[in-house]
Amino acid sequence: MSGFKARDKEFVAGTYGRFDLELVSGKGAVFCDVNGKEYIDLGSGIGVNIFGVADDEWVAAVTAQLSKLQHASNLYYTEPCTLLAEALCKKSGMSKVFFSNSGAEANECAIKAARKYYSDAHGGAEGEIITLKNSFHGRTVTTLSATGQDVFHKNFGPFTDGFRFVTAGDCEELENAVGDKTAAVMIEMIQGEGGVNPLSQEFVDRIKKLAEKHGFLIISDEVQTGNGRTGKYFACEHYGLKPDIISTAKGLGGGLPIGATLFSSKTASVLGASDHGSTFGGNPVAAAGALSIVNRVDDALLCEVTAKGEYIRKSLEGAKGVKSIAGMGLMLGIETEGDAKRIVAECINRGVVALTAKTKVRLLPPLNITYDQLDKALNILKEVIANEALA
Ligand SMILES: *Cc1c(COP(=O)(O)O)cnc(C)c1O
Repeated sequence: MSGFKARDKEFVAGTYGRFDLELVSGKGAVFCDVNGKEYIDLGSGIGVNIFGVADDEWVAAVTAQLSKLQHASNLYYTEPCTLLAEALCKKSGMSKVFFSNSGAEANECAIKAARKYYSDAHGGAEGEIITLKNSFHGRTVTTLSATGQDVFHKNFGPFTDGFRFVTAGDCEELENAVGDKTAAVMIEMIQGEGGVNPLSQEFVDRIKKLAEKHGFLIISDEVQTGNGRTGKYFACEHYGLKPDIISTAKGLGGGLPIGATLFSSKTASVLGASDHGSTFGGNPVAAAGALSIVNRVDDALLCEVTAKGEYIRKSLEGAKGVKSIAGMGLMLGIETEGDAKRIVAECINRGVVALTAKTKVRLLPPLNITYDQLDKALNILKEVIANEALA
């Protein structure tokens, strides 16, 4: 097969700084490029291919649904979306689910619900949502506005009002920011795009305390951390936090676009008929694939994720050029002496696909990656990290 990079550059809008890699197929944690070269995947397409490429069970679930009913619209009931909502509620202890197509949309729905909850409770008044500096919540104008990074707050104004940012981990700044106007605090338990930074238990406990005092909602953005990635179904479980709203996407669909916003009993009825909607949301094919994924993220798999995460840490700790390792389960960020972007580019040359997050090398491997694949990939990664430290 001939390459398609040049035509991509000609016809696809130039919003991405792509790595020099033309992918065509794969199986499990292995990608195959246009020349037939194989790569071990430590990125899962940014945490999406949770059971890797072309996983047999997922493909079977998707194709069975594809030949039955591919779409019906939300004017009617379809079974995959019903079963998926039930499965997500049972896994999480939440009460109701709204389906969309992406992380940004899942967050948009969470934001709308928090605003309406506040408005209902305060005679139509408009509340404020507090998010964290260095967060990432999406690319729509409103989720960009919610994202606590100045680099995202230019060129596309006017932005959406009603967001306020506090420093992750700064309890005093948080305490000063919340009040009667606060509708919600929205957090990533581990900031993903921001550099794989887990929140401290103390900070999360303070959010909980302040929520009880002021009556605001807690929204956990689990777009990246959800669906088993960190060794719990949702990362908030590590902190003993029961959010009022959880948003998720990425790994949920196993490779097809789907987003979900989960509501606790407290927020379950805040959005009523015609308050929100989506043409594609809860699409039967995406939902059937997602259901097969959710059903497989059980305690045994979660233990495996934790064990593999520990295994990677042990392998990298003290390695030449590795400064520190942060994260949980199979969501890890490695601070390196050499430049992360160069390390990832060189890993691709050597047959390993990893990610960056700010100044770190980020790993989000498929949850079913084998130890043999991990060993091979980690050996290359360590060599490259060591070489770049010398460079
Ligand atoms: C990726 C991500 C989003 C945005 O998801 P899209 O599917 O790209 O819209 C939002 N929040 C977090 C925490 C993410 O990691």
